[in-house]
Amino acid sequence: MSQPESSLMNRLVSLSKRRGFIFPASEIYGGLNGFWDFGPLGVQLKNNLRDAWWRAMVECPPMGLDGKPLSIVGIDTSIIQHPKTWEASGHVAGFSDLMVDCRETKARYRADHILVAEVRVRVKNNEQDSTLTEWLSTLDDEDAWETICKKAKKLFLKAGVVEKDIQVADRSTWKPLTDMPSGMGQAEVYGPDAKNKGTLTEPRAFNLMFHSYVGVFQSEDSKVYLRPETAQGIFLQYKNVLDTSRVKPPFGVAQVGKSFRNEVTPRNFIFRSREFEQMEMEFFVPPEDGMKWYEFWVAERMRWWEEQGVKKEHLFRHEIPDNERAFYSAATSDIEYLWPFTAPNFGELEGVAYRTDYDLTQHQKFSKVNLEYVDQENSRRYTPHVIEPASGLTRGVLLLLAESYQYDESRASPEWLKLKPSLAPIKAGVFPLVNKDGMPEVAEKLYLELRQNFTCQYDAKQSIGKRYARMDEAGTPFCITVDGDTLKDQNVTIRNRDTAQQERVALDHVKAYLAGKLV
Ligand code: ATP
Repeated sequence: MSQPESSLMNRLVSLSKRRGFIFPASEIYGGLNGFWDFGPLGVQLKNNLRDAWWRAMVECPPMGLDGKPLSIVGIDTSIIQHPKTWEASGHVAGFSDLMVDCRETKARYRADHILVAEVRVRVKNNEQDSTLTEWLSTLDDEDAWETICKKAKKLFLKAGVVEKDIQVADRSTWKPLTDMPSGMGQAEVYGPDAKNKGTLTEPRAFNLMFHSYVGVFQSEDSKVYLRPETAQGIFLQYKNVLDTSRVKPPFGVAQVGKSFRNEVTPRNFIFRSREFEQMEMEFFVPPEDGMKWYEFWVAERMRWWEEQGVKKEHLFRHEIPDNERAFYSAATSDIEYLWPFTAPNFGELEGVAYRTDYDLTQHQKFSKVNLEYVDQENSRRYTPHVIEPASGLTRGVLLLLAESYQYDESRASPEWLKLKPSLAPIKAGVFPLVNKDGMPEVAEKLYLELRQNFTCQYDAKQSIGKRYARMDEAGTPFCITVDGDTLKDQNVTIRNRDTAQQERVALDHVKAYLAGKLV
């Protein structure tokens, strides 16, 4: 099947815009980098993913290691918390990325997002060959390698070098700016958008938390932060939950909500944005059981993503080595996905971290409130250890779009989304074949009945083919058509999105039919 010219990411961005999944925020003012709005289909898809997570975590959690259902409760905490929260958690001192500025273009980049490639050219001088080396850079996105090759050609062709004498280093040897010797990276490299070399500054730490002020006076005393993760709100309320909910370790507290990070280089559509949503769960366990629960949650979370329709081979468990983990973490695995812009490599979708007792101990120290658990059965007290599966809800929506995207020129809409039916924004389209002869009345009646249980859309405009195409682009699994025969035999046609096959189903059986297919 021939594929269109433009990259998968470009097609996802344009389909999202055209069909109302995702729009640039503040678009009429030119947009705001790193901020996105979810349109009518997008918010429905996001809510469905959120609900599936909430159901699997809070309402119907998995069976635990002893074969009994786990005990996990939900919570919804404030975005703005006491500023000491972020001192205790380490975010004020350490939640930063290394960034570099370009003196020529005034652009700012995350240092580890700049990829540097060595380009060598053979220069013939008085019949003697010599080699000249330059270091070119670009941002590590989908087209990075093509960009580097183009830049190399342009730079040297302009200097009169013959094309065959230009040799761009092998793709596997290029490296992030942060891996270049300090000083050399700055003096020798052409910045991603610069015409001259040596215009990048030394990397500097840049705190990612947005801040504001509470009350009328703006001073250091009234400074507050927008949460960069939802997790800390859970730790602050852990004691209240314990005292009010009849839970005891092992138990979990789950939360879904907005987080904010002033990312240096937000990009790849909604993958890395400055305002996003997270789905996080803190699982509190007796210290000696930490490792086994960590293994449990890594496996469980990989299984859950597969259950949402992600192919097994598109997921990868990346065990973070000792020297790259946060100092307080005893083990961390990133669950990675084969993103269109990282392929053939994988990139983070969710992190599962064994955080030990670090957070509770820190809050205990800063608040001076005892956060130990009193285990009366075994007459002991301890600070629970914590396993945290933390995933991005908005990043998850991008995954669903990328994973479900199909291209087939033989269909009425070559682009269509093969979403898991239960996650699809619209479950069924209900159409009269033509907008007359008694068909609209029957179709409307069916629509009014079905919408009590399923998100449905009634559509009587345009040809039936165009209506199917619109529904395919939205990922709608079923289209139900009332035609001339319906009035005689009380049957409707149900078209299956994935097979494009149609079957006749009795009008009074449509509800049960959908219920059976939408699991
Ligand atoms: P990264 O390495 O990609 O910056 P992280 O390791 O800092 O991510 P965590 O702090 O572990 O991310 O956050 C948990 C999850 O929240 C991530 O796996 C990701 O799905 C999501 N997430 C984090 N930052 C962003 C962002 N800027 N935009 C969208 N989602 C994000």
